[in-house]
Amino acid sequence: MDLTQVKAIVTGGAQGMGRHFAEQLLAAGAKVAVGDVDTDKLAELPEGIASRKLDVSDEQDVESFVAWAAEQMGGLNVLINNAGIIRDGLLVRKSRSTGEITKMSAAQLRSVLDVNLVGATFAAREFAMNLIQAGEKGVIVNISSIARHGSRGQTNYVAAKAALAANTVTWMREFAPFGIRVGAVAPGMIETPMTQGMNQAARDRLVQSIPLGRIGVPEDIWRAVQFVIECDYFSGRTIDVDGGSGMG
Ligand code: NAP
Repeated sequence: MDLTQVKAIVTGGAQGMGRHFAEQLLAAGAKVAVGDVDTDKLAELPEGIASRKLDVSDEQDVESFVAWAAEQMGGLNVLINNAGIIRDGLLVRKSRSTGEITKMSAAQLRSVLDVNLVGATFAAREFAMNLIQAGEKGVIVNISSIARHGSRGQTNYVAAKAALAANTVTWMREFAPFGIRVGAVAPGMIETPMTQGMNQAARDRLVQSIPLGRIGVPEDIWRAVQFVIECDYFSGRTIDVDGGSGMG
């Protein structure tokens, strides 16, 4: 698909990678609608990007957002399923100092699944519904993570991101007859507000473990997202963009 023809929804696009994707799409001549829970940051998006409050974990919110975005742009043909959160912690943890044993709470587990997996699924469903009803073709780009291979302290996040990569195949098979392609991009560690809290020692250790010698930037991931949108023979696969680091 030519970027100038794109009418894209970007979830979680008020900051970080999603904002970068939205800005790159706009610069390429595409139409873009961004949804995010952070309405203050939405207000700071550049002119030309339509935006509205969206909580992807709220089914009705997703339904009305997709209808609104289609109206704003005169249709839809790209969904970037980008909204995500982390709530890291060990499933069972024993404190070295006190010996106390604690466990990941149900809320910690469910909140991450609700946003990263259920939310992305609501968005994919509503987007596909809209396109199938309109008889239009399109592309879904799921933002997974290399954490999907397994990552200590991220039971909740790993489960969501692995399921998203697996359902990239499911949705590819279900939607291919309607001309809807589905691809996923799995970033390694990327410089965004999500990762800014990391302490310097941990950051230095991480950089040493990345063969290409640096943490990624949103533009690295945009290159892969752009490929998924543009390549009409790509569907059902997940592209790791991680500086060669892998995980597991
Ligand atoms: P980010 O800087 O935290 O941006 C994510 C945006 O999504 C934030 O504006 C966030 O709002 C919003 N959001 C959170 N919950 C939402 C919801 N329920 N509905 C709608 N929007 C919601 O994150 P990022 O680093 O750009 O990450 C983008 C995607 O890449 C995520 O799916 C993430 O899991 C994935 N990823 C990131 C990395 C990395 O190293 N950064 C690596 C692999 C994969 P709040 O700030 O208010 O929560």
